[in-house]
Amino acid sequence: MASQKMLKFTKISRDMPEKRTADERREDFAEIYGEFATEKAAEQSGRCSQCGVPYCQSHCPLHNNIPDWLRLTAEGRLREAYDIAQMTNTFPEICGRICPQDRLCEGNCVIEQSGHGTVTIGAVEKYITDTAWDEGWVDFPNPSVERPESVGIIGAGPGGLACADMLRREGVQVTVYDRYDRAGGLLTYGIPGFKLEKDVVMRRIEQLEKGGVTFKLNCNVGTDITFEEIREGHDAVLIATGVYKTRDLQAPGVGAKGIVNAIDFLTASNRAMNFCDSVPEFDSGELNAKGKKVVVIGGGDTAMDCLRTSIRQGATSVKCLYRRDRDNMPGSQREVQNAEEEGVEFVWLSAPKGFTGETVEGVMVQKMRLGQPDATGRRVPEIIEGSDYVEEADLVIKALGFEPEELPKLWGVDGLEVTRWGTVLADFQTHETSLPGVYACGDIQRGASLVVWAIRDGREAAQAIMAQIGQAGSVAAE
Ligand code: FAD
Ligand code: SF4
Ligand code: SF4
Repeated sequence: MASQKMLKFTKISRDMPEKRTADERREDFAEIYGEFATEKAAEQSGRCSQCGVPYCQSHCPLHNNIPDWLRLTAEGRLREAYDIAQMTNTFPEICGRICPQDRLCEGNCVIEQSGHGTVTIGAVEKYITDTAWDEGWVDFPNPSVERPESVGIIGAGPGGLACADMLRREGVQVTVYDRYDRAGGLLTYGIPGFKLEKDVVMRRIEQLEKGGVTFKLNCNVGTDITFEEIREGHDAVLIATGVYKTRDLQAPGVGAKGIVNAIDFLTASNRAMNFCDSVPEFDSGELNAKGKKVVVIGGGDTAMDCLRTSIRQGATSVKCLYRRDRDNMPGSQREVQNAEEEGVEFVWLSAPKGFTGETVEGVMVQKMRLGQPDATGRRVPEIIEGSDYVEEADLVIKALGFEPEELPKLWGVDGLEVTRWGTVLADFQTHETSLPGVYACGDIQRGASLVVWAIRDGREAAQAIMAQIGQAGSVAAE
């Protein structure tokens, strides 16, 4: 029988932790939501109807045991709630902050579908785990037995780190290689602080270091060390390098100064604004929106991050140019709303035709209408002839998505198969590639995706690697 504290969704309405005002948010890079107070977290968790078949759980890529940790939170049993939350998720407080819950767990909550407003699953997951950090319940990997086998992980993003954490807990010797000077991948240098504050990521990395994971940073595989050297040095290798090749625009004037890639802009901002690094391109204004009229091209979540970063850097105007309309954009509606509140203007049904100025002065815009759906069901944008105009701009940010780099070519590896999209071909359960003992996970296997999927992949890859190592051990023992 459900606890007395549950099934309160008809009496208690949905409520999120307090959101800072747009005026406050514009001034800094701190997260925009506060934390639930203990009573509020319990109250909101108590709205859950404890479904026998919880659709929230089946639509969470990690199949988190959501109903159980909601019940335990409603009952004030936070330590147990945390123990359950961390069983299936390596970084629950990160997912609680940045999963697109409206498309995953919360979007499938039955009480939302009955018109009562979804249970605020993400905010509760964040609350439980932030509490665990405050209370000192979050353990670093501390294996009871050290194993002789070693695994090399290329890429310190969420996929690589989730795998490193699981393997280290089994006593495996783990080395993580990354070309950047800090670990975390896009958690550190892609996603802005107003969605995910950087100390939340750094404390996880410190835990892994404390637990014996070796990080080899500033180490670009293919330049500073070869892939073969890594393979020879370890019993198994995981490729978790993400996707970083920017999809480009073909339009007259696109090479002008002042037209930049989203990832360069966001990385510079994260370094300068969140880590206080010295970034010459930021200081010179090349990758800095301060005092500029900014136009961001694209309608996905990366575009939203560029828009909201530009506002915080002190742009004089920030516009988003997208060729479809609001209902047909890939970015999350929650992020569009946040951006609008903060002062972003969306220019829907508009595509760039070219750029004016040697140093960019404007975007030549052509207006679009939506035509018939294509094979994927999305309505195709069509040009409205004679509708062109120039949108003034002195910084243009291209946020049109990412593609994988061609790893076999880049690293000179024979036998590593890729798909026709350029992602590394690997089994979706075991993550084994075409090379024995080599695994792949996260964006480099799936294409640009989500943090929660990278975590799931990294955990699955760790299980498969343990099975491989176990077999090797039993053969050696015979
Ligand atoms: P990454 O996080 O990309 O990490 C790969 C790592 O590999 C990097 O550290 C890189 O330096 C390293 N590497 C690459 N090549 C080499 C090499 N040759 N040698 C050594 N190291 C190498 N997802 C969400 O769920 N929610 C969000 O809100 C969200 N916002 C996003 C915002 C932006 C701007 C972007 C770009 C993405 C966002 N995503 C979001 C997607 C999410 O960040 C990715 O899906 C996720 O980080 C993929 O994890 P990964 O471990 O596969 O790769
Ligand atoms: Fe929802 Fe993401 Fe947490 Fe799963 S991991 S419960 S999808 S917020
Ligand atoms: Fe609770 Fe909603 Fe999940 Fe049902 S679907 S168990 S109501 S959170």
